[in-house]
Amino acid sequence: MQIQQYFFRALLALTVFSFSAAEESVTTPPNIIVILADDVGWGDAGCYGGTKVKTPNIDRLAREGQRFANGHASAAVCTPTRYSLITGQYSWRRDAVGLNKGVANGDSPLLIPTDMTTAPGLLKEAGYQTALIGKWHLGFGLTKPDYNQELRPGPLEIGFHEFFGIPATNDRIPTVFVRDHRVVGLDAADPIQITYDKDEAQKQGLSPYAAGRNRIGWGKGGKAAWWKDTDIADTHTRECMQFLERNKDKKFFLFFTPHDVHAPVIPHKRFVGTSGLSNRADMLHELDWSIGEILNTLDRLGLAKNTLIMYSSDNGAYINDEEGHKPTGPYRGKKSQLWEGGHRVPFITRWPARLQPSEPKDLVSTIDIAATICAAAGIAVPKDALPDSYNLLPALLGEKQAPVRDHLVLMSGTGHLALRSGDWKYIPDLAVADGWQAGNKKKPNAPARPGLYDLAKDPGEKQNLFAEKPNDAKRLAALLEKAKTNAITRPR
Ligand code: CA
Repeated sequence: MQIQQYFFRALLALTVFSFSAAEESVTTPPNIIVILADDVGWGDAGCYGGTKVKTPNIDRLAREGQRFANGHASAAVCTPTRYSLITGQYSWRRDAVGLNKGVANGDSPLLIPTDMTTAPGLLKEAGYQTALIGKWHLGFGLTKPDYNQELRPGPLEIGFHEFFGIPATNDRIPTVFVRDHRVVGLDAADPIQITYDKDEAQKQGLSPYAAGRNRIGWGKGGKAAWWKDTDIADTHTRECMQFLERNKDKKFFLFFTPHDVHAPVIPHKRFVGTSGLSNRADMLHELDWSIGEILNTLDRLGLAKNTLIMYSSDNGAYINDEEGHKPTGPYRGKKSQLWEGGHRVPFITRWPARLQPSEPKDLVSTIDIAATICAAAGIAVPKDALPDSYNLLPALLGEKQAPVRDHLVLMSGTGHLALRSGDWKYIPDLAVADGWQAGNKKKPNAPARPGLYDLAKDPGEKQNLFAEKPNDAKRLAALLEKAKTNAITRPR
Protein backbone atom coordinates (compact mmCIF):
# COMPACT_ATOMS: atom_id res chain seq x y z
CA MET A 1 0.00 0.00 0.00
CA GLN A 2 2.74 2.40 1.02
CA ILE A 3 4.71 1.56 -2.07
CA GLN A 4 1.67 2.13 -4.23
CA GLN A 5 1.13 5.54 -2.61
CA TYR A 6 4.75 6.40 -3.16
CA PHE A 7 4.52 5.53 -6.83
CA PHE A 8 1.27 7.46 -7.18
CA ARG A 9 2.83 10.56 -5.60
CA ALA A 10 5.94 10.24 -7.72
CA LEU A 11 3.79 9.93 -10.83
CA LEU A 12 1.74 12.94 -9.79
CA ALA A 13 4.88 14.99 -9.17
CA LEU A 14 6.26 13.98 -12.55
CA THR A 15 3.00 14.88 -14.27
CA VAL A 16 2.81 18.27 -12.57
CA PHE A 17 6.43 18.89 -13.44
CA SER A 18 5.97 18.06 -17.12
CA PHE A 19 2.81 20.18 -17.35
CA SER A 20 4.56 23.21 -15.91
CA ALA A 21 7.59 22.54 -18.10
CA ALA A 22 5.35 22.54 -21.15
CA GLU A 23 3.64 25.70 -20.03
CA GLU A 24 6.94 27.49 -19.52
CA SER A 25 8.50 26.16 -22.69
CA VAL A 26 9.87 28.96 -24.83
CA THR A 27 9.76 26.79 -27.91
CA THR A 28 5.96 26.54 -28.07
CA PRO A 29 4.87 28.76 -30.97
CA PRO A 30 2.57 31.52 -29.73
CA ASN A 31 -0.89 32.42 -30.84
CA ILE A 32 -0.69 35.67 -32.76
CA ILE A 33 -3.05 38.64 -32.83
CA VAL A 34 -2.26 41.71 -34.93
CA ILE A 35 -4.54 44.69 -34.31
CA LEU A 36 -4.28 47.43 -36.93
CA ALA A 37 -6.43 50.44 -36.05
CA ASP A 38 -7.56 52.94 -38.65
CA ASP A 39 -6.36 56.56 -38.72
CA VAL A 40 -5.27 56.42 -35.08
CA GLY A 41 -2.41 58.82 -34.44
CA TRP A 42 0.74 58.51 -32.37
CA GLY A 43 -0.63 60.70 -29.58
CA ASP A 44 -4.17 59.33 -29.30
CA ALA A 45 -3.74 56.90 -26.40
CA GLY A 46 -2.90 57.58 -22.77
CA CYS A 47 0.29 55.51 -22.99
CA TYR A 48 1.54 57.94 -25.66
CA GLY A 49 0.79 61.02 -23.59
CA GLY A 50 -2.91 61.58 -24.31
CA THR A 51 -4.80 62.79 -21.26
CA LYS A 52 -8.21 63.79 -22.63
CA VAL A 53 -9.08 60.40 -24.09
CA LYS A 54 -9.19 57.38 -21.79
CA THR A 55 -7.64 54.22 -23.22
CA PRO A 56 -7.19 51.81 -20.28
CA ASN A 57 -6.94 48.72 -22.46
CA ILE A 58 -4.38 50.07 -24.92
CA ASP A 59 -2.48 51.41 -21.89
CA ARG A 60 -2.63 47.95 -20.33
CA LEU A 61 -1.09 46.43 -23.48
CA ALA A 62 1.71 49.00 -23.28
CA ARG A 63 2.28 48.44 -19.55
CA GLU A 64 2.44 44.66 -19.93
CA GLY A 65 4.41 44.83 -23.18
CA GLN A 66 6.72 47.00 -25.19
CA ARG A 67 5.72 50.49 -26.19
CA PHE A 68 7.76 51.67 -29.17
CA ALA A 69 8.25 55.43 -29.47
CA ASN A 70 9.48 55.34 -33.06
CA GLY A 71 6.97 53.12 -34.89
CA HIS A 72 5.74 53.99 -38.38
CA ALA A 73 3.06 52.92 -40.77
CA SER A 74 4.86 52.11 -44.02
CA ALA A 75 2.53 54.53 -45.83
CA ALA A 76 0.48 57.53 -44.74
CA VAL A 77 -2.81 56.04 -46.04
CA CYS A 78 -4.80 52.83 -45.55
CA THR A 79 -4.49 50.47 -48.52
CA PRO A 80 -0.70 50.57 -49.07
CA THR A 81 0.08 50.01 -45.38
CA ARG A 82 -2.29 47.04 -45.26
CA TYR A 83 -0.75 45.58 -48.43
CA SER A 84 2.74 45.87 -46.95
CA LEU A 85 1.80 44.39 -43.59
CA ILE A 86 0.46 41.24 -45.28
CA THR A 87 3.13 40.87 -47.98
CA GLY A 88 6.19 42.42 -46.33
CA GLN A 89 6.78 44.34 -49.56
CA TYR A 90 6.84 48.12 -50.01
CA SER A 91 3.60 49.02 -51.75
CA TRP A 92 5.28 51.49 -54.12
CA ARG A 93 7.02 48.56 -55.83
CA ARG A 94 3.56 47.68 -57.19
CA ASP A 95 2.90 50.79 -59.27
CA ALA A 96 1.28 48.71 -62.03
CA VAL A 97 -1.79 48.12 -59.85
CA GLY A 98 -1.86 51.61 -58.35
CA LEU A 99 -0.41 50.63 -54.98
CA ASN A 100 2.11 53.42 -55.41
CA LYS A 101 -0.54 55.96 -54.45
CA GLY A 102 -3.96 56.53 -53.03
CA VAL A 103 -6.36 53.99 -51.62
CA ALA A 104 -8.56 51.30 -53.14
CA ASN A 105 -12.23 51.86 -53.90
CA GLY A 106 -15.06 49.39 -53.29
CA ASP A 107 -14.80 48.20 -56.90
CA SER A 108 -11.08 47.41 -56.82
CA PRO A 109 -9.81 43.99 -57.90
CA LEU A 110 -7.69 42.01 -55.44
CA LEU A 111 -4.39 43.88 -55.08
CA ILE A 112 -2.33 40.98 -53.73
CA PRO A 113 -1.31 38.37 -56.33
CA THR A 114 -2.55 34.94 -55.28
CA ASP A 115 0.85 33.38 -56.05
CA MET A 116 2.71 35.79 -53.75
CA THR A 117 4.14 34.53 -50.46
CA THR A 118 2.36 36.33 -47.63
CA ALA A 119 2.74 36.26 -43.86
CA PRO A 120 -0.75 34.78 -43.30
CA GLY A 121 -0.03 32.22 -46.04
CA LEU A 122 3.18 31.12 -44.30
CA LEU A 123 1.38 30.89 -40.96
CA LYS A 124 -1.40 28.86 -42.57
CA GLU A 125 1.16 26.44 -44.02
CA ALA A 126 2.74 26.16 -40.58
CA GLY A 127 -0.55 24.93 -39.13
CA TYR A 128 -2.05 28.16 -37.85
CA GLN A 129 -5.78 28.84 -38.16
CA THR A 130 -5.77 32.26 -39.85
CA ALA A 131 -8.49 34.91 -39.96
CA LEU A 132 -8.89 38.52 -40.99
CA ILE A 133 -11.75 40.26 -39.20
CA GLY A 134 -12.55 43.91 -39.88
CA LYS A 135 -11.71 46.26 -42.70
CA TRP A 136 -10.19 44.58 -45.78
CA HIS A 137 -9.62 47.39 -48.31
CA LEU A 138 -7.48 45.32 -50.70
CA GLY A 139 -10.07 44.42 -53.34
CA PHE A 140 -11.82 41.31 -54.59
CA GLY A 141 -11.76 39.39 -57.86
CA LEU A 142 -9.47 39.42 -60.86
CA THR A 143 -11.04 42.42 -62.59
CA LYS A 144 -13.90 44.05 -60.72
CA PRO A 145 -15.91 42.46 -57.94
CA ASP A 146 -19.54 41.49 -58.52
CA TYR A 147 -21.03 41.65 -55.03
CA ASN A 148 -23.91 39.40 -56.07
CA GLN A 149 -21.53 36.55 -56.88
CA GLU A 150 -18.65 34.86 -55.09
CA LEU A 151 -15.99 37.45 -54.23
CA ARG A 152 -13.06 35.37 -55.38
CA PRO A 153 -10.11 35.71 -55.22
CA GLY A 154 -9.99 37.66 -51.98
CA PRO A 155 -8.59 37.26 -48.46
CA LEU A 156 -9.11 33.48 -48.54
CA GLU A 157 -6.93 33.15 -51.63
CA ILE A 158 -3.94 35.00 -50.12
CA GLY A 159 -3.55 33.13 -46.83
CA PHE A 160 -6.61 33.46 -44.60
CA HIS A 161 -8.87 30.52 -43.70
CA GLU A 162 -11.61 32.97 -42.73
CA PHE A 163 -12.66 36.51 -43.48
CA PHE A 164 -15.41 38.65 -42.04
CA GLY A 165 -15.66 42.38 -42.43
CA ILE A 166 -16.21 45.44 -44.56
CA PRO A 167 -14.94 45.49 -48.16
CA ALA A 168 -13.23 48.91 -48.29
CA THR A 169 -13.70 51.84 -45.88
CA ASN A 170 -16.72 52.78 -43.79
CA ASP A 171 -17.22 55.82 -46.04
CA ARG A 172 -17.23 53.78 -49.25
CA ILE A 173 -19.88 51.84 -51.12
CA PRO A 174 -20.93 49.02 -50.81
CA THR A 175 -22.01 49.32 -47.16
CA VAL A 176 -22.23 45.61 -46.47
CA PHE A 177 -20.40 42.90 -44.52
CA VAL A 178 -18.71 40.08 -46.38
CA ARG A 179 -18.13 36.63 -44.90
CA ASP A 180 -15.52 34.57 -46.77
CA HIS A 181 -16.72 34.89 -50.39
CA ARG A 182 -20.24 36.25 -49.92
CA VAL A 183 -22.10 39.40 -48.90
CA VAL A 184 -23.92 38.67 -45.63
CA GLY A 185 -27.71 38.85 -45.76
CA LEU A 186 -28.01 39.80 -49.43
CA ASP A 187 -31.51 39.55 -50.92
CA ALA A 188 -31.13 38.11 -54.43
CA ALA A 189 -34.21 40.08 -55.51
CA ASP A 190 -32.38 43.34 -54.71
CA PRO A 191 -28.96 42.92 -56.35
CA ILE A 192 -26.04 45.25 -55.62
CA GLN A 193 -24.88 47.56 -58.38
CA ILE A 194 -21.90 49.86 -57.77
CA THR A 195 -19.58 52.18 -59.64
CA TYR A 196 -16.91 54.75 -58.89
CA ASP A 197 -17.37 56.44 -62.28
CA LYS A 198 -19.58 59.51 -62.15
CA ASP A 199 -20.76 59.24 -65.77
CA GLU A 200 -21.55 55.59 -65.32
CA ALA A 201 -23.45 56.42 -62.12
CA GLN A 202 -25.59 58.97 -63.96
CA LYS A 203 -26.23 56.61 -66.85
CA GLN A 204 -27.38 53.84 -64.51
CA GLY A 205 -29.19 56.06 -62.01
CA LEU A 206 -26.94 55.11 -59.10
CA SER A 207 -26.78 57.13 -55.89
CA PRO A 208 -24.05 57.95 -53.35
CA TYR A 209 -26.63 57.41 -50.60
CA ALA A 210 -26.27 54.14 -48.70
CA ALA A 211 -27.01 52.96 -45.15
CA GLY A 212 -28.24 56.32 -43.97
CA ARG A 213 -25.82 58.79 -45.56
CA ASN A 214 -23.86 59.78 -48.62
CA ARG A 215 -20.66 57.82 -49.22
CA ILE A 216 -17.81 57.73 -51.72
CA GLY A 217 -18.91 55.86 -54.86
CA TRP A 218 -22.40 55.25 -56.26
CA GLY A 219 -24.68 52.30 -55.87
CA LYS A 220 -28.09 50.73 -55.80
CA GLY A 221 -29.64 47.67 -54.18
CA GLY A 222 -28.48 45.34 -51.42
CA LYS A 223 -30.51 47.22 -48.82
CA ALA A 224 -31.23 44.18 -46.64
CA ALA A 225 -27.45 43.74 -46.25
CA TRP A 226 -26.60 47.33 -45.29
CA TRP A 227 -24.67 47.76 -42.07
CA LYS A 228 -25.52 50.22 -39.32
CA ASP A 229 -22.50 52.46 -38.75
CA THR A 230 -23.14 52.41 -35.01
CA ASP A 231 -22.88 48.60 -34.92
CA ILE A 232 -19.74 47.96 -36.99
CA ALA A 233 -17.39 47.83 -33.98
CA ASP A 234 -19.71 45.55 -32.02
CA THR A 235 -20.06 43.21 -34.99
CA HIS A 236 -16.32 42.97 -35.68
CA THR A 237 -15.52 42.53 -31.99
CA ARG A 238 -18.10 39.77 -31.56
CA GLU A 239 -16.69 37.96 -34.60
CA CYS A 240 -13.17 38.18 -33.10
CA MET A 241 -14.33 36.77 -29.77
CA GLN A 242 -16.14 33.92 -31.49
CA PHE A 243 -13.02 33.15 -33.54
CA LEU A 244 -10.93 32.99 -30.35
CA GLU A 245 -13.48 30.72 -28.66
CA ARG A 246 -13.66 28.41 -31.68
CA ASN A 247 -9.90 28.13 -31.96
CA LYS A 248 -8.83 28.14 -28.33
CA ASP A 249 -7.32 24.67 -28.66
CA LYS A 250 -5.50 25.41 -31.92
CA LYS A 251 -2.66 27.71 -32.88
CA PHE A 252 -4.25 30.79 -34.40
CA PHE A 253 -3.40 34.03 -36.19
CA LEU A 254 -6.07 36.70 -35.92
CA PHE A 255 -5.60 39.89 -37.94
CA PHE A 256 -8.13 42.29 -36.43
CA THR A 257 -8.57 45.50 -38.41
CA PRO A 258 -11.10 47.79 -36.67
CA HIS A 259 -12.76 50.55 -38.71
CA ASP A 260 -12.30 52.84 -35.69
CA VAL A 261 -11.49 55.75 -36.00
CA HIS A 262 -11.92 56.30 -39.76
CA ALA A 263 -14.55 58.75 -41.00
CA PRO A 264 -17.52 58.94 -40.82
CA VAL A 265 -16.95 58.93 -37.08
CA ILE A 266 -20.14 57.31 -35.79
CA PRO A 267 -19.61 55.48 -32.50
CA HIS A 268 -22.23 53.27 -30.88
CA LYS A 269 -24.58 55.30 -28.71
CA ARG A 270 -23.10 53.93 -25.49
CA PHE A 271 -19.86 55.78 -26.37
CA VAL A 272 -21.45 59.01 -27.61
CA GLY A 273 -20.42 61.91 -25.39
CA THR A 274 -18.06 59.82 -23.25
CA SER A 275 -15.00 61.89 -24.16
CA GLY A 276 -16.67 65.27 -24.00
CA LEU A 277 -14.51 66.17 -27.02
CA SER A 278 -15.76 64.84 -30.34
CA ASN A 279 -17.24 61.84 -32.12
CA ARG A 280 -13.71 60.87 -33.11
CA ALA A 281 -12.58 60.86 -29.48
CA ASP A 282 -15.70 58.86 -28.51
CA MET A 283 -14.78 56.42 -31.26
CA LEU A 284 -11.32 56.02 -29.67
CA HIS A 285 -13.16 54.87 -26.55
CA GLU A 286 -15.00 52.38 -28.74
CA LEU A 287 -11.69 51.12 -30.18
CA ASP A 288 -10.25 50.76 -26.69
CA TRP A 289 -13.35 48.83 -25.62
CA SER A 290 -12.90 46.41 -28.58
CA ILE A 291 -9.28 45.80 -27.61
CA GLY A 292 -10.36 45.26 -24.00
CA GLU A 293 -12.85 42.61 -25.13
CA ILE A 294 -10.06 40.76 -26.96
CA LEU A 295 -7.76 40.95 -23.91
CA ASN A 296 -10.54 39.78 -21.58
CA THR A 297 -11.34 36.88 -23.88
CA LEU A 298 -7.70 35.78 -23.90
CA ASP A 299 -7.63 36.00 -20.08
CA ARG A 300 -10.84 34.02 -19.75
CA LEU A 301 -9.61 31.30 -22.12
CA GLY A 302 -6.22 31.13 -20.39
CA LEU A 303 -4.45 32.10 -23.60
CA ALA A 304 -2.95 35.48 -22.73
CA LYS A 305 0.48 34.27 -21.68
CA ASN A 306 1.53 32.64 -24.94
CA THR A 307 -0.25 35.02 -27.30
CA LEU A 308 1.84 37.59 -29.13
CA ILE A 309 -0.16 40.78 -29.70
CA MET A 310 1.07 43.52 -32.02
CA TYR A 311 -0.94 46.74 -32.06
CA SER A 312 -0.48 49.63 -34.48
CA SER A 313 -2.34 51.93 -36.89
CA ASP A 314 -2.44 52.06 -40.70
CA ASN A 315 -1.53 55.76 -40.90
CA GLY A 316 -1.40 58.87 -38.75
CA ALA A 317 -4.37 60.88 -37.56
CA TYR A 318 -6.14 63.28 -39.96
CA ILE A 319 -6.40 65.98 -37.34
CA ASN A 320 -3.78 67.58 -35.08
CA ASP A 321 -5.79 69.13 -32.28
CA GLU A 322 -9.18 68.57 -30.68
CA GLU A 323 -9.57 71.00 -27.80
CA GLY A 324 -6.13 70.20 -26.46
CA HIS A 325 -6.16 66.50 -27.39
CA LYS A 326 -3.24 66.01 -29.80
CA PRO A 327 -3.83 62.97 -32.05
CA THR A 328 -0.42 63.41 -33.77
CA GLY A 329 1.44 64.15 -30.51
CA PRO A 330 4.26 66.64 -31.03
CA TYR A 331 4.61 65.74 -34.70
CA ARG A 332 4.03 67.86 -37.78
CA GLY A 333 1.52 66.95 -40.47
CA LYS A 334 -1.26 64.39 -40.66
CA LYS A 335 -2.68 61.44 -42.62
CA SER A 336 -1.43 61.22 -46.24
CA GLN A 337 1.62 63.44 -45.57
CA LEU A 338 5.35 62.75 -45.48
CA TRP A 339 5.76 64.64 -42.21
CA GLU A 340 5.99 62.45 -39.08
CA GLY A 341 2.34 63.05 -38.18
CA GLY A 342 1.36 61.23 -41.39
CA HIS A 343 3.05 57.96 -40.55
CA ARG A 344 4.35 57.86 -36.97
CA VAL A 345 1.88 55.67 -35.16
CA PRO A 346 1.43 53.73 -31.93
CA PHE A 347 3.36 50.45 -31.98
CA ILE A 348 2.94 48.07 -29.05
CA THR A 349 3.87 44.41 -28.64
CA ARG A 350 2.87 42.09 -25.80
CA TRP A 351 3.81 38.45 -25.27
CA PRO A 352 3.92 37.72 -21.54
CA ALA A 353 5.66 34.33 -21.97
CA ARG A 354 8.71 35.86 -23.62
CA LEU A 355 8.85 39.66 -23.80
CA GLN A 356 9.96 41.91 -20.98
CA PRO A 357 8.02 45.17 -20.68
CA SER A 358 10.08 48.08 -22.01
CA GLU A 359 9.93 51.30 -24.01
CA PRO A 360 12.21 50.77 -27.00
CA LYS A 361 13.35 53.67 -29.16
CA ASP A 362 14.12 51.55 -32.25
CA LEU A 363 12.92 52.64 -35.67
CA VAL A 364 10.27 50.04 -36.59
CA SER A 365 7.38 49.79 -39.04
CA THR A 366 4.10 48.02 -39.64
CA ILE A 367 5.81 46.37 -42.63
CA ASP A 368 8.03 44.53 -40.10
CA ILE A 369 5.05 42.77 -38.57
CA ALA A 370 5.07 40.23 -41.44
CA ALA A 371 8.60 38.88 -40.78
CA THR A 372 8.27 39.25 -37.02
CA ILE A 373 5.16 37.12 -36.62
CA CYS A 374 6.65 34.46 -38.91
CA ALA A 375 9.81 34.42 -36.79
CA ALA A 376 7.77 34.16 -33.60
CA ALA A 377 6.01 31.15 -35.12
CA GLY A 378 9.37 29.55 -35.90
CA ILE A 379 8.91 29.81 -39.67
CA ALA A 380 11.95 30.04 -41.94
CA VAL A 381 10.89 32.68 -44.47
CA PRO A 382 11.85 31.76 -48.08
CA LYS A 383 14.72 33.94 -49.22
CA ASP A 384 12.83 36.14 -51.69
CA ALA A 385 9.64 36.44 -49.62
CA LEU A 386 8.57 39.38 -47.41
CA PRO A 387 11.33 41.40 -49.15
CA ASP A 388 11.18 44.63 -47.14
CA SER A 389 10.08 43.24 -43.77
CA TYR A 390 12.67 43.19 -40.96
CA ASN A 391 12.40 40.56 -38.27
CA LEU A 392 12.02 42.49 -35.00
CA LEU A 393 11.96 39.38 -32.82
CA PRO A 394 15.59 39.60 -31.63
CA ALA A 395 14.94 43.20 -30.59
CA LEU A 396 11.70 42.24 -28.84
CA LEU A 397 13.53 39.48 -26.97
CA GLY A 398 16.32 41.85 -25.98
CA GLU A 399 18.90 39.91 -28.02
CA LYS A 400 19.85 42.60 -30.50
CA GLN A 401 23.27 44.18 -30.72
CA ALA A 402 22.40 47.14 -32.96
CA PRO A 403 19.33 49.02 -34.21
CA VAL A 404 17.11 46.66 -36.21
CA ARG A 405 16.70 48.99 -39.16
CA ASP A 406 19.31 51.34 -40.54
CA HIS A 407 16.64 52.94 -42.71
CA LEU A 408 12.93 52.94 -43.52
CA VAL A 409 11.18 54.22 -46.65
CA LEU A 410 7.86 56.01 -46.12
CA MET A 411 5.16 56.79 -48.67
CA SER A 412 2.62 59.61 -48.81
CA GLY A 413 -0.99 59.37 -49.97
CA THR A 414 0.16 60.67 -53.35
CA GLY A 415 2.90 58.06 -53.75
CA HIS A 416 5.87 60.27 -52.90
CA LEU A 417 8.66 58.84 -50.79
CA ALA A 418 10.72 59.95 -47.81
CA LEU A 419 13.41 58.18 -45.83
CA ARG A 420 14.21 57.80 -42.14
CA SER A 421 17.64 56.73 -40.93
CA GLY A 422 18.64 57.05 -37.28
CA ASP A 423 17.42 60.42 -36.09
CA TRP A 424 17.39 61.80 -39.64
CA LYS A 425 14.53 62.33 -42.04
CA TYR A 426 15.00 63.10 -45.72
CA ILE A 427 12.20 64.38 -47.95
CA PRO A 428 13.33 64.64 -51.60
CA ASP A 429 10.81 67.36 -52.50
CA LEU A 430 9.03 69.51 -49.92
CA ALA A 431 6.54 70.69 -52.56
CA VAL A 432 4.76 67.34 -52.21
CA ALA A 433 5.33 66.68 -48.50
CA ASP A 434 1.73 67.63 -47.66
CA GLY A 435 0.35 64.58 -49.50
CA TRP A 436 -3.31 65.04 -50.46
CA GLN A 437 -3.15 68.64 -49.28
CA ALA A 438 -0.12 69.50 -51.46
CA GLY A 439 -2.47 70.38 -54.30
CA ASN A 440 -0.77 72.58 -56.84
CA LYS A 441 2.24 73.44 -54.74
CA LYS A 442 4.40 71.45 -57.15
CA LYS A 443 4.89 73.42 -60.36
CA PRO A 444 5.68 71.30 -63.39
CA ASN A 445 9.42 71.36 -64.16
CA ALA A 446 10.18 73.16 -60.89
CA PRO A 447 13.41 71.81 -59.37
CA ALA A 448 12.95 69.61 -56.33
CA ARG A 449 13.37 71.36 -52.98
CA PRO A 450 14.73 68.75 -50.56
CA GLY A 451 14.29 68.72 -46.79
CA LEU A 452 16.49 67.24 -44.08
CA TYR A 453 15.48 67.15 -40.42
CA ASP A 454 17.18 66.03 -37.22
CA LEU A 455 14.31 64.52 -35.27
CA ALA A 456 16.34 64.16 -32.07
CA LYS A 457 16.64 67.95 -31.82
CA ASP A 458 13.68 68.95 -33.95
CA PRO A 459 10.79 66.45 -33.62
CA GLY A 460 8.38 68.98 -35.14
CA GLU A 461 10.40 69.10 -38.42
CA LYS A 462 10.68 72.87 -38.42
CA GLN A 463 14.32 73.39 -39.29
CA ASN A 464 15.47 72.28 -42.74
CA LEU A 465 19.16 71.33 -42.45
CA PHE A 466 19.58 70.26 -46.09
CA ALA A 467 21.99 73.08 -46.94
CA GLU A 468 23.91 72.77 -43.68
CA LYS A 469 24.37 69.01 -43.67
CA PRO A 470 25.11 68.00 -47.27
CA ASN A 471 26.85 64.74 -46.29
CA ASP A 472 23.92 63.48 -44.25
CA ALA A 473 21.54 64.49 -47.04
CA LYS A 474 23.67 62.65 -49.59
CA ARG A 475 23.82 59.52 -47.43
CA LEU A 476 20.04 59.41 -46.97
CA ALA A 477 19.35 60.16 -50.64
CA ALA A 478 21.66 57.27 -51.56
CA LEU A 479 19.86 54.92 -49.15
CA LEU A 480 16.54 55.85 -50.76
CA GLU A 481 17.87 55.26 -54.27
CA LYS A 482 19.30 51.90 -53.19
CA ALA A 483 15.97 50.82 -51.69
CA LYS A 484 14.21 51.77 -54.93
CA THR A 485 16.72 49.90 -57.10
CA ASN A 486 17.04 46.74 -54.99
CA ALA A 487 14.01 44.47 -54.94
CA ILE A 488 14.88 43.33 -51.42
CA THR A 489 15.91 45.59 -48.55
CA ARG A 490 15.68 43.25 -45.57
CA PRO A 491 18.73 41.36 -44.30
CA ARG A 492 18.96 37.90 -45.88
CA1 CA B 1 -6.40 54.58 -42.45
